[in-house]
Amino acid sequence: MSAVLEQFLQGLDAEIRAAGDWGEVAAYIPELARVDPAQFGIAIALPGGGMVAAGQSGQRFSIQSVSKVFSLACVLGRIGEQIWTRVGREPSGRRFDSILSLEDERGRPRNPFINAGALVTTDELLAGRVPKEALAEILGFLRAAAEDGDIHIDKAVAGSEAETGYRNVALANYLKSFGNLRNPPEITLGTYFHQCAIEMSCVQLARAGRVIAGLAGAPAMLSPVKARRISALMMMCGHYDGSGDFAFRVGLPGKSGVGGGILLVAPGRASVAIWSPGLNGYGNSQMGTYAAERLARETGWSVFG
Ligand code: GLN
Repeated sequence: MSAVLEQFLQGLDAEIRAAGDWGEVAAYIPELARVDPAQFGIAIALPGGGMVAAGQSGQRFSIQSVSKVFSLACVLGRIGEQIWTRVGREPSGRRFDSILSLEDERGRPRNPFINAGALVTTDELLAGRVPKEALAEILGFLRAAAEDGDIHIDKAVAGSEAETGYRNVALANYLKSFGNLRNPPEITLGTYFHQCAIEMSCVQLARAGRVIAGLAGAPAMLSPVKARRISALMMMCGHYDGSGDFAFRVGLPGKSGVGGGILLVAPGRASVAIWSPGLNGYGNSQMGTYAAERLARETGWSVFG
């Protein structure tokens, strides 16, 4: 199986590079705007510890919103179901940084993967702790899940977003006005920007995702019910207003980030990390989405059979 998969990935890598249809890098975070869009990497962790990879699978990139999956896992471990009093579980049908539905929903974000929802999750992780401790928990989770201590925060990316993240500042203040932010907005925002600035390679991210995919041999860090629920949220909300299209094309739970990363979960079968920094109109990786679609078709891993 690995040899066939490896050959498929090599072909996919060559095809994507030849097509050259990369999309646009995220320009609103200056440090990400400098990244060359013409890059691609993919890594697939298999049950029992196998790993198949192609392209720039060892190159570190800014995981951005993919971090929201892991901050949610940490919060579920801390307070469990209580988090759902502060954030919903419904797709938003809007851009990741939209403020519109917050007004309708009176400050309770529709899900933990849009920015407003992730700010609430991070705010919860800060309960009774300083930002360094909350960030250490997220990093600790990722390092333990990946069984790799060499995972860090890129401070330049965090600083760059802090300088220009006016929309997130607006969202945090808005949440605060509805009483759904416990910490001062600047504290929650600073923690959130640092969490988004964690950098990982595809190989590291695929290894970390094993705990959500529930792969045999993965560290026992998430109960099956939590992994199932996180996967359901990834399917419904992981690609924002592009989630329906992603489910239609790929049929697997996935979470994207504006750094161009996608974590894809085939429950029990594989944890896949894909990276290509050029984005499509939804703010999701253009070639990453294409690669996910091709992989799902090739392997038959879609959860819909
Ligand atoms: N740090 C980014 C932001 O808040 C994350 C967004 C994303 O990856 N979609 O805008």
